[in-house]
Amino acid sequence: MTVGVQVVLASHNAHKLEELGRIIAPLAPGIELVGYDGPEPVENGLSFEENALIKARAAAAHAGLPAIADDSGIVVDVLGGCPGIFSARWGGPSRSDTGNVELLLWQLSDIADEHRAAGFVCAAALALPSGAETHRLGVWPGSILRAPAGEGGFGYDPIFRPEGETRSAAELSAAEKDALSHRTRAFSALAEVIQGGITADGISI
Ligand code: IMP
Repeated sequence: MTVGVQVVLASHNAHKLEELGRIIAPLAPGIELVGYDGPEPVENGLSFEENALIKARAAAAHAGLPAIADDSGIVVDVLGGCPGIFSARWGGPSRSDTGNVELLLWQLSDIADEHRAAGFVCAAALALPSGAETHRLGVWPGSILRAPAGEGGFGYDPIFRPEGETRSAAELSAAEKDALSHRTRAFSALAEVIQGGITADGISI
């Protein structure tokens, strides 16, 4: 049996390990994704890319293995790209999905439909123990609805209508969201880099 090159996923979230495993497995069959239980660094970057790299670097240094990480959120044009890297705590320190959604809807309450453009953004980063690193950005364009719709997904999904869709992201099936999402776009691109960089000694970029 061939054992793939081990790559650490720098997240304590089991759901993410499963979701990213689904995305990456077919595109980078030469790797085996493993979980991470090391320390979580302070995410003090000023962009999705910086925060993803901070997490990947910390995990690569701790585990002594190549590591991947992501950072994601929603960017709203009329808000100059906010909530952006503050997406998880936009509605306050409780970090609740409901609070985040309510505040964003209230802020946009006077904004006409044609000016509610937004996008989900994901930065996917790869860091090697040698210090080499790279990242890819995935964007899922759409707009912000006037009220939540749908029961699926999480976070801002109920108020995000993907471009070309009549439904919210929370009304898509998991498979439909997987096929389109910012995370899929970012990690598909990164998986190609990883698969192309596999050598007898590990991964080179
Ligand atoms: P994280 O840092 O990738 O865990 O995500 C930051 C925040 O962005 C989350 O708490 C969500 O509010 C939001 N977010 C990221 N991806 C999605 C998504 O696919 N759907 C809905 N909200 C998302």
